[in-house]
Amino acid sequence: MIKVFVNGYGTIGKRVADAVSLQRDMEVSGVLKMKPDYIAASASTKYPLFTLSENVQAFRDAGLVARPMDKGIAESDIIIDCSPGGKGEGESTGVVNKRVYQNLGKKAIFQGGEKADIGISFVAQCNFEKAILADYVRVVSCNTTGLSRTLGALRGFGIERVLATMIRRGPDPADIKTGPVNAIVPETKVPSHHGPDVQTVIDIPIQTFAIIVPTTLMHLHTIAVDFKNDVSRDGVIGAFRKATRVRLVNSKSGIKSTAEVMELARELKRGRSDMYEIVVWEDSVNVKGKTLFYIQAVHQESDVVPENIDAVRAMFNLMGREQSIAETNRALGIAF
Ligand code: NAD
Repeated sequence: MIKVFVNGYGTIGKRVADAVSLQRDMEVSGVLKMKPDYIAASASTKYPLFTLSENVQAFRDAGLVARPMDKGIAESDIIIDCSPGGKGEGESTGVVNKRVYQNLGKKAIFQGGEKADIGISFVAQCNFEKAILADYVRVVSCNTTGLSRTLGALRGFGIERVLATMIRRGPDPADIKTGPVNAIVPETKVPSHHGPDVQTVIDIPIQTFAIIVPTTLMHLHTIAVDFKNDVSRDGVIGAFRKATRVRLVNSKSGIKSTAEVMELARELKRGRSDMYEIVVWEDSVNVKGKTLFYIQAVHQESDVVPENIDAVRAMFNLMGREQSIAETNRALGIAF
């Protein structure tokens, strides 16, 4: 059993910890929380709890037992760092943490909020082999994972170029501090950073726009792909059907928006109503000449979770790509 320490038990960390606990070949050795709040109390019922040494007393005062972080890291084989991503200038929490992991000789997985040079950028179905026996891996952001999964499935058709617009959720559902509440916010640095980020995973010509809108549920991507040769709609749909962690839905079945996609996740009785798959509207898939159009939705809170599990297996060379993906999918209830 690989012992996995989850540093940061927020939106991503708590899902990653639960996903690790469902696998047959790994276990949660501990999770780190900064504050002794209700989430820490909930975590303490499932996992050994850790915090920074200066916070141990505050946890004790709140009636919670939390040991210092260094101990948890020392007792683990790998750390999945789910601390807040780097914002603006200066070092991110992940970069600071990486030094701690390096000093203790531990492998680590970082998340998409970190700069690309922190580790090998990873999306299991696109480049699992690159992470085999790697010490540091970065599971790319929710948007980059979404673009990589569907565009990766189309690579065989010969992609000439991609233009995608990311209509991004404002905050995550539990975040009461971030907006916008009543505005559409364009990212005026165009093209946005998402295109180059996709290129750290798959080598395709891609440019992107990003816009933030007042919703918490999901991101939505509109995508146009120019191919070198003619492609057929059936061929594209077939490629999406074959790709793991891509789910085709049809608006005629009643799924007309991200709200209904989230309702579908609830119907599937997924933990926390997570939709790990990238959801492509089949009726949006349209080919005009050599250009393909399609629309997809990304559940930002959960699509990267299976990638973290597969990254652990690659980094310890526990099994190959197909087997790992199948194991992870089975444990998380992803049909394909
Ligand atoms: P979050 O704010 O929900 O959780 C971060 C957790 O890290 C908190 O529990 C915080 O207490 C803890 N933490 C650990 N060390 C810390 C420190 N030194 N200072 C402050 N807090 C510390 O963040 P998140 O949304 O889970 O994001 C984590 C990472 O995952 C980021 O890199 C982010 O870019 C990436 N990511 C987020 C999403 C998303 O939509 N939320 C999607 C994909 C990737």
